[in-house]
Amino acid sequence: MSDTDANTLVDRVRDGDIRLHELEDHADADTAATARRRLVASETGVDLDVIGSYGFPADRADANIENMIGTAQVPMGVVGPVTVHGGAVDGERYLPMATTEGALVASVNRGCSVIDAAGGATARVTKSGMTRAPVFRVTDVAEAEALAGWVRDNEDRLREAAEATTNHGKLDDVTAYVVGDSVFIRFRFDTKDAMGMNMVTIATRAAAEVVETETPAALVALSGNLCSDKKPAAINAVEGRGRSVTADVSIPREVVEEHLHTTPEAVAEVNTRKNLVGSAKAGSLGFNAHVANVVAATFLATGQDAAQVVEGSNAITTAETRGGDLYVSVSLASLEVGTVGGGTKLPTQAEAIDLLGVAGGGDPPGSNADALAECVAAGALAGELSLLAALGSRHLSSAHESLGR
Ligand code: NAP
Repeated sequence: MSDTDANTLVDRVRDGDIRLHELEDHADADTAATARRRLVASETGVDLDVIGSYGFPADRADANIENMIGTAQVPMGVVGPVTVHGGAVDGERYLPMATTEGALVASVNRGCSVIDAAGGATARVTKSGMTRAPVFRVTDVAEAEALAGWVRDNEDRLREAAEATTNHGKLDDVTAYVVGDSVFIRFRFDTKDAMGMNMVTIATRAAAEVVETETPAALVALSGNLCSDKKPAAINAVEGRGRSVTADVSIPREVVEEHLHTTPEAVAEVNTRKNLVGSAKAGSLGFNAHVANVVAATFLATGQDAAQVVEGSNAITTAETRGGDLYVSVSLASLEVGTVGGGTKLPTQAEAIDLLGVAGGGDPPGSNADALAECVAAGALAGELSLLAALGSRHLSSAHESLGR
């Protein structure tokens, strides 16, 4: 890249010769980003130099961003090592977290050290499947009922069309939902190590074409919101989406008292009154303290789709005393994660995934994304434990005061 190239591009945009989003057609990705940044900076009078100081070739982000001017650099820390006894991961892991919330990493790290002192967390993926639910228009409810029956009788034909579009995706379920003259056909796929949204959208389109060819139904939208992507939705909390993953730990009373300066009884009471009763009163879908914090920070660090923190916060935390010790669990119903595709290929995010030892496709396929889900669940468990204990010992505001401000 030379300065002249970038300045020439700026001039050409100003002259109306090319448009701002066309710069990559006329120069390499770094030159295009520089020109775009200079143009925006000169028109707004805002210095964008730090946004323009990034540590990887801009073309590595080609598939992830349009109109690139640079990067938003979010600080990244680690928690752990924490021992995770999972179905797909077994051993100590450092968990990368990218956040701007002071005290968060310290708090989750404290939870990790308590989990480790208790022998580690157990974690399991209990269900896996990414969904897409196109909506079709039919004439009336009789036709709607007939379409639902047709879907039940023709699952194999839909599977054949859908799976022809992908080497990895497998159609696990098709269910029709009728609302008057609208029929939603909800497809659920095993997407292996991909989060799978692009994969299942392409596969569902192929299946929807079969529906339109073979029945009177007309496709209105490939996503009919019963999927349900990036919106708070009970269907995800109940049925799961992406990975349903659970982690738990039993902590000896003396560990709770020494490390967390509280008691199992106090933690259990805070959990019941806050996470269960308080959330019920609030009409919340998330019966937890702050699972979204760990989900968001690990999603940013590892290149997951940040908007899917919405579904990631569908989690229930339980805490109870058992023989004087403390048992805590967290169950994330709809954690949408992948170790291939999307933002996982970006250089910093790829390093963070590598740190967890789950980069790329797993052997067997799907095992790396399962392992990532189990690590996030263990981190969420640490976060829940630490915050519940801070509330139980009334240390929350003082920790934020000393660490976050
Ligand atoms: P993707 O970037 O489209 O790549 C996934 C592809 O990787 C798969 O389709 C698969 O190809 C291939 N692959 C290679 N090894 C694999 C393995 N071991 N397991 C599974 N697949 C493997 O990613 P995606 O996960 O489908 O979609 C994620 C992206 O979708 C994110 O960037 C997200 O922001 C975006 N997104 C899209 C929508 C939408 O509606 N389209 C909605 C929300 C988010 P084959 O299929 O050929 O096997």
